Amino acid sequence: RAKELGKNNYQFFTAEMNNMMAKKMNLEIGLRKAIENHEFELYYQPQIGVNTGKMTGVEALIRWNHPEIGLVPPNDFIPLAEETGLIIPMGYWILRVASQQAKKWIDQGFDDLRMSVNISSRQFQQPDFVAAVQTILSETGLPAKNLELELTESIVQNPKSALPVMEQLKAMGVKLSLDDFGTGYSSLSYLRSFPLDTLKIDKSFIRYINEEIKDEAIVKTIINMAHSLKLNVIAEGVETEEQLSLLSDNDCHEFQGYLFSRPVKADELQEILENHKAYKTD
Ligand code: C2E
Ligand code: MG
Ligand code: MG
Ligand code: MG
Repeated sequence: RAKELGKNNYQFFTAEMNNMMAKKMNLEIGLRKAIENHEFELYYQPQIGVNTGKMTGVEALIRWNHPEIGLVPPNDFIPLAEETGLIIPMGYWILRVASQQAKKWIDQGFDDLRMSVNISSRQFQQPDFVAAVQTILSETGLPAKNLELELTESIVQNPKSALPVMEQLKAMGVKLSLDDFGTGYSSLSYLRSFPLDTLKIDKSFIRYINEEIKDEAIVKTIINMAHSLKLNVIAEGVETEEQLSLLSDNDCHEFQGYLFSRPVKADELQEILENHKAYKTD
């Protein structure tokens, strides 16, 4: 009986594993065709000045509309794209579309709008990355100062190779932001050596900022540090007025989150831009 049960468990386990592997393979096959099949779409989420209430920029966030599965969240396919190397063509597609869109909005008079684009570390490590960014900027006509690249702490794992790439991007006028700050390899020494413009406080610290005294302390510390280092600081995942007012009390520069807007399609962002040009929080 025990043997039988064991056998059943074993079969269940392999079935489960097969299922998972099949799913992954399906995703991979789908991913390979997704660009040419126009299944990707960039959504844009506003970033807002905490005290001015004005929109300072938008973050481009990819969405995959799978023909059978429906909407697949980025956390379910970005890791696979990185593993397979598909992130490279995908990443350039993202950069090009985001730059084209930003250029359109700038041409409409939203001159200072900053377009933030997430860059995977695998893409950042490509030898031709800087040249590719340069090409995309000149092809789309987007001024370098309007582009910000969001890098994660995993990129800076190898500071020897990351630093010169960052410096070349800075020399071009592109802005650099450290995303998910506080969740990674928390060596603070790179804050000193890397030519960053922005620190982005990870949403996991914002979530319970009004309940957890430790989270509040961490956020305050990051904001103060950003001030001392003359960096722009932005909080992500802001969902409530209470979170926003605590960020305001501590002089956080900008915020991003459902409180103001979820990530939306380009035409919806267009409306937000027109209606909230001078949106005020107070
Ligand atoms: P991220 O760059 O840290 O992006 C912030 C995530 O928080 C986004 O999830 C966004 O939709 C979500 N978010 C924004 N406001 C709120 C809020 O108020 N509450 C909560 N709970 N969440 C909020 P999303 O779009 O699912 O993306 C997840 C991650 O996938 C991103 O984290 C980024 O690491 C990656 N990703 C997304 N788009 C791209 C892309 O175009 N390229 C690359 N390389 N990675 C991307
Ligand atoms: Mg990001
Ligand atoms: Mg982030
Ligand atoms: Mg994050």
